[in-house]
Order: sequence, then C-alpha cells, then structure tokens
Amino acid sequence: MPAKVYPFPSPEDQQVIQTAIEVFLTSQTGRARDTMLKTIRAVLDRYHISKFSFPDYVVEATRAPGYAVIRAKKLITGHKCPSCAEPLYGLASRIRILSVQERRDYHLVTYGCRCGKIFAKPEEC
Ligand SMILES: [Zn+2]
Repeated sequence: MPAKVYPFPSPEDQQVIQTAIEVFLTSQTGRARDTMLKTIRAVLDRYHISKFSFPDYVVEATRAPGYAVIRAKKLITGHKCPSCAEPLYGLASRIRILSVQERRDYHLVTYGCRCGKIFAKPEEC
C-alpha cells in the first residue's frame, strides 16, 4: 500500500521540530543549531510542504536544500525577552538570533531565548 500523505506534520513530527528548537535554545551550540535546521527541513520535505506554522513562529524551507529558517510571528519593542526578561543585547545574553529578514528600511530579526520563547524585533540596518 502506498504511504498516506498528510497535509500537515503529525503531532509527533511537530514535537520533533519543537524539541530540536528547544535543544538549540537551551544548549546554544553550533552543532545543535545545525541539527535543528536540518531536522526542520527533513520534516518539511517528508510532508512535501515549504512551511509550517506553530503558535509563536513559522518554519520555512530555504531555497538551498537541507536547511530551514525560523521566523517569529510576534513582534516586541523592548530590550528584553517578553517571557523571562533576559536582556536582548550584551555578551552575556542567552538570546540568540535565529533569522534575519531584510526589509527596505530595517531588518526583522527573529530571536530565540534560552527559556524557549521566540520573538521578532525590527532593527535598524
Ligand atoms: Zn526568555
């Protein structure tokens, strides 16, 4: 019997993506970032979809094979994580840049915090 094609990742596969993101945000290693992006892409490819939406963010396949990007849906205006108040800037910050979208007058930067929160902020070019 041919495999059934589902339009959306199963709850288990959604969990695989969320876990990969969580592992990167808590460990913040280059290896975990690489694994996270490849894992997201593998799930998207398996379902033949180019993006999938979670409550706080969208995961999207890149033009280049094998990778993906994460874009936050919620914008913040301050200088702190909206969930745990971790400062956004500074060497000791446990917030990492997940992706950057270039706009005409600003960049929309998606940040991921060690606490698991993902949010975006418009930054000057
Ligand atoms: Zn946080």
